Amino acid sequence: MPRITQPDLQAYLDEALAPAEMAAIEVELRSQPELLKQLAAINARRDAGVHSVGEIWRRQRLSCPTREQLGSYLLGALDQPHSEYIDFHLSKIGCRYCQANLEDLRRQQQEKAETTTTRRRKYFQSTAGHLRKKR
Ligand SMILES: [Zn+2]
Repeated sequence: MPRITQPDLQAYLDEALAPAEMAAIEVELRSQPELLKQLAAINARRDAGVHSVGEIWRRQRLSCPTREQLGSYLLGALDQPHSEYIDFHLSKIGCRYCQANLEDLRRQQQEKAETTTTRRRKYFQSTAGHLRKKR
């Protein structure tokens, strides 16, 4: 990861970067408090009403993961920086929007798993029935 510059942070605040770049910057922000301070300073210049970093995160809803990413997260299919970022987003930032989204996905995946089990059972039964008829 190259050093993150002021213009990168500006673009980040504008959400003008590709999702992968947004995520990469967020990972850096997480590990570099100094960078987060810079981001806060830029944002403060833009909007004098904002005081805490937490407030900035919430106001900007800093690039919430997509539903697809949350789904992969649930399945444990994300690489470490991404899944760590989502952990951070959910528990440290406490994004209610994503928490609700994740809860919804969890329910869906559960339902899907149940449907698959039922389908497998039906398939097995019909195959067994078919074999029996052949005899
Ligand atoms: Zn979120």
